[in-house]
This record gives sequence, C-alpha cells and structure tokens, in this order.
Amino acid sequence: MKFEDYHINPAIKKALDKLGFKKPTDIQFKAIPPILRGEDVLAIAQTGTGKTAAFAIPVLHMLHERKQYARQDGIKCLVMVPTRELAIQITEVFHTLGKHTRVETMTVFGGVEQAPQITKLEDGIDVLVATPGRMFDLVSQGHIRLERVEMLILDEADHMLDLGFIKDIRDVLRHLPRKRQTLFFSATINEKIKDLAYSLVTKPIRIQISPKDPVSKNVDHSVAYIGMDDKRFFLERVIKENEGSKILVFVRTKVRAERVHAAMDRVGIKADTLHGDKDQKDRLAALNRFKKGDVKVLIATDVSSRGIDIPSVEYVVNYDLPDVPENYVHRVGRTGRGTQKGKSVSFCSPEEKEILNEIEGYLGKPIKVLDIEKQDYSATIDFSAEVKPDLKSLLKEVQDFEEASKKKKKPKGKK
Ligand code: ADP
Ligand code: MG
Repeated sequence: MKFEDYHINPAIKKALDKLGFKKPTDIQFKAIPPILRGEDVLAIAQTGTGKTAAFAIPVLHMLHERKQYARQDGIKCLVMVPTRELAIQITEVFHTLGKHTRVETMTVFGGVEQAPQITKLEDGIDVLVATPGRMFDLVSQGHIRLERVEMLILDEADHMLDLGFIKDIRDVLRHLPRKRQTLFFSATINEKIKDLAYSLVTKPIRIQISPKDPVSKNVDHSVAYIGMDDKRFFLERVIKENEGSKILVFVRTKVRAERVHAAMDRVGIKADTLHGDKDQKDRLAALNRFKKGDVKVLIATDVSSRGIDIPSVEYVVNYDLPDVPENYVHRVGRTGRGTQKGKSVSFCSPEEKEILNEIEGYLGKPIKVLDIEKQDYSATIDFSAEVKPDLKSLLKEVQDFEEASKKKKKPKGKK
C-alpha cells in the first residue's frame, strides 16, 4: 500500500511526496490505522524504521481535519522525549510533514532562555514536543496548560518510564485529562517497563516488529578485543582508513570524551564532542557541524545514543562498551537508518568482558568477533601518528627537566 492510497489529508500527502516517502515502513503500516481509530498503542520497532512519522502522520491528520479550528484552546498533543536534541529533531519532523496543514508544533527544552518559549506558547499551539524538566517549570509557572491534551506520546518510551524519568512522567500524568489517547514508541522494552506502560493505559494495541533481534538488520556490527590503553590507536586507524566517512564514537563519560578528543587532535584528526557538560548552544553547534559533514567525527556520551537521526553516518564506534545493555542497540542504531546500511565496531578491553557478556545476553546471541592477529595489533600501534617516547628522548626530557629546575632555583627571594 502506498501513502497515496491512505485516507490521510492531501496536505500531508503533499509533504510526504516532497520528502520522497512513497510507501509506509512496516511500523507505519501497522501503527497508523489504530492511532487514527483513537486506540492506545505500544509500538516496538527497530532503530531507524520511521517511528517518528508513524505517530506524526496520524496526529497531524487528526488535528488538521478538525472543522473547528481551536488552537487557542490549548495543547492537544504532548510528545515527551529524553533529550533536547531529540525534541528539536521531532519538532522538525512535525514541521516538515505538517508544512501544508494548520497544525502548529513547538518545542520546549531546558538550557536556553525561557522567555522566547513563553512568547511563542502564548500564540497558541497544537502539538508540544518537550523534555520533562523545562516543561514542568513552565507548567508550574502557569505558562503551559495541559488540561486540553488529548494525546500523549512517549518516544523512547522505555527510557521515559525508567527510573530517571518516571517521577516526571507521573507528575505530568496528574495534569492530563483521564480520557486521552496514549502512545508509546521505542526500539527496546523490557517486561518490567512493559507492565508499567500497560498500567498507564487502557486496552492498548501492542505492535512489535522483529522482536527477536533488536539490532537493526541494516547494521553490520562486530566486536574487537583491544586493551584499554591501545584503544586510541585503533580509533585512529578506523578513522584514517575510512577517511571522508561520518563516524560517531561513543565513550563512557564526559571526561573520556574530552580525553579521546585530545588524543585524536594529537594525531591530526579533527573531531567534535557532545556530552552533558557542554552548554546547549555548543551541543547543537557540534551536532549541526556533524550533520552537515563539516566535521566527520563526533565523540559522544550516551546523551546522543537515543533517537538521533543523522543521515549517512557510516560508522559507529563503541570506544567503550555501554553500561546499560539496551544502549548498545540504540548506539549502533545511529547508523543504518531508513534504507541505508551501516557498520559498527565495539572495542572491548579485558575489563569490559563482563559487560560484553551482558550485552550478548540481552541480544540473545553473540556479537561477531573481529579477529586481530598479533602482528596486525602491533602494526596498528605503529601505524599511529602519535609520537611515542623512545628511550633517548625520555632521557633528554629528564635532563631538560633537571636543568630547568636548577635554573629556577637560582634567583632567590623572587616569587
Ligand atoms: P526511528 O524513530 O524508528 O529510529 P526515525 O523516525 O528517526 O526512525 O526515521 C529514520 C529515517 O527514516 C529518517 O531519516 C526518516 O526520514 C526516514 N523515513 C521515515 N519514514 C519513511 C518512509 N516511509 N519512507 C522513506 N523514509 C522514511
Ligand atoms: Mg525515534
């Protein structure tokens, strides 16, 4: 079935056509009809399979079809997401698909000035895409009213219902009308979260696509055993051997992101970092440079593992393994999106073997191992442009240091 055969408003069809979306993806095919019927839906489908449009198309259709246009009435649809970058991205999808409709979509998120967001809110909007924190501030100050919300969507639903967010979500639910449509979308879910999700809705329709393998079939993923201290040489090699490719590198912490960045800088590789310690302006700038391809290497923490849709990321490198097994699925899912193919490699040090076992347990099967022969391993370290200290230069360094300290001691009484 093609989009042109759907009973959706021509205004949306026009936008789909412009985007070159001819046929719905599996999840769109299965989720759009029950959403249009007003049912609650829990939808699980692999990364990069078009889940955003699966909820955006029916929401835009339903709001645009209303005869009585009543935006001033208040927000009709609330989409909650875990990160600011994702809030912006999803808002863009609503804007693009809803370009020829009357539906107004806006986003609020923290880390930027509040005043412009308030002004825009006062104009009246239909769809609000938000991260929980800022939205809550605005709700408690009375700038956002949620009593007209008819549809609640949780994207990355398992994450939104997990420990870090569940309190916020429960707070939000208290402000929403009882009678509403609730939609959950994610690539991963576990039994506990599923039960929690069911407890929040009435008779939901469950749609699960290829539940056996949570990793997108478009991603060729493997693991390589590499010592912690050698990882930077292997990253350098992957980057230099794939020159011109967009490579997303995941590390465990913010500090490590900066360290790996410095190591790449030393060997002449231009990269950017993205993590929670950067201010919002810098985060967005780094993401945009990577999107445009001005910078080909982005070193990020798990803040960008979920949902982010950047076209033509060829490679995902797990420089460190993720702490939470499902984040493996989300990280490698930043490549191989839509119809594209992608590759991923994970660097596993001996101390990370335990985490690897957990991830494989979660996936239900082992990850392909890249065999690196001893020779190749040392060749990779030799390949590095990093200046390695030999004995002679070490001795010279010691000498220089001693001389410098002698000189320092001479002028007495001076600070
Ligand atoms: P998910 O949320 O499932 O990870 P996204 O909604 O971010 O995936 O979409 C992944 C990519 O697929 C996006 O670049 C999007 O533009 C593209 N896409 C979505 N639906 C279609 C479609 N019906 N036909 C072609 N491309 C699509
Ligand atoms: Mg998504």
